[in-house]
Amino acid sequence: MTTRALEDRYGRVATDLRVSLTDRCNLRCNYCMPAEGLDWLPTEQVLTDDEVVRLVRIGVDLLGIREVRFTGGEPLIRRGLTGIVAQVKEDAPNVEVSLTTNALGLSRTAQALADAGLDRINVSLDTVRRDTFAEITRRDRLHDVIAGLEAAGAAGLDPIKINAVLLRGSNDDQAPELLRWCLEHGYQLRFIEQMPLDAQHRWNREEMITADEIFTRLDAEFDLAPAAEPRGSAPAELFTVDGGPGTVGVIASVTRPFCGDCDRVRLTADGQVRNCLFAREESDLRAALRSGASDEELADRWIIAMRGKRAGHGIDDPTFLQPDRPMSAIGG
Ligand code: SF4
Repeated sequence: MTTRALEDRYGRVATDLRVSLTDRCNLRCNYCMPAEGLDWLPTEQVLTDDEVVRLVRIGVDLLGIREVRFTGGEPLIRRGLTGIVAQVKEDAPNVEVSLTTNALGLSRTAQALADAGLDRINVSLDTVRRDTFAEITRRDRLHDVIAGLEAAGAAGLDPIKINAVLLRGSNDDQAPELLRWCLEHGYQLRFIEQMPLDAQHRWNREEMITADEIFTRLDAEFDLAPAAEPRGSAPAELFTVDGGPGTVGVIASVTRPFCGDCDRVRLTADGQVRNCLFAREESDLRAALRSGASDEELADRWIIAMRGKRAGHGIDDPTFLQPDRPMSAIGG
């Protein structure tokens, strides 16, 4: 078996595969989708569990994928999730498998996921205040998230990373409080600049809380120092807090893009390869797979899909166009 690289025209090699398992979600975060939800993908268009496992295996065996992250929508909604994780780990025990989730329902599944071989989780959580949580997500479920986090810790899914977005006028005054809570619980917090991927197309560059602003707010209450760890292709700028060992990350996806070091490729729930979060073209692996393509043929298509990857997201270019697919249908 020969392994070929998923290399683009700029010499970047994708080794980190993000797989969206569903475009559905059980929250309605106001910066992501409207209160009524979206037109979900019809079931027949969504890859089956076996199709997901096969494409991941092709990525790992033939194309050099080293890390697999399952995303959504909300991946815990996907009924076959535990089985998919177990099969991927059985096929490729050395590949790191993680999950990005809102943690609703994780209290019931964390142990089964850990037993299936899941290595880590990232939990999206923007506030630890019940009223703010209900306002942002339009659901009063903070207690479920906290129970999910506790269960993940008890199941040994370490280290637990928390991803937070700050929204002006909503939770932007809560950054120090969220950090303090994460440090107390041993969670690694990372703030992420909000990106123009909302279904409502309401993102506004002027309204966005920048990484510099986040740093300033935290620095007013904590002693932050750049962490020694090299950043590599990891997007977060890491700081130790009050001399460590606790850290906080700031991901300046918009104001200081890390596209030059990008090692990611995405597969949507309906089997489309996206070479970038902001790609405007996709490559349809599902159609090829369902019409009988061999593993090698699917790998060829995937390699071709990577060649069109652009140098960067270009959010600041006057010609920037938000992709048609919202974040919930791409996967984080
Ligand atoms: S915007 Fe695209 S190229 Fe830049 S880091 Fe994200 S996926 Fe990679």
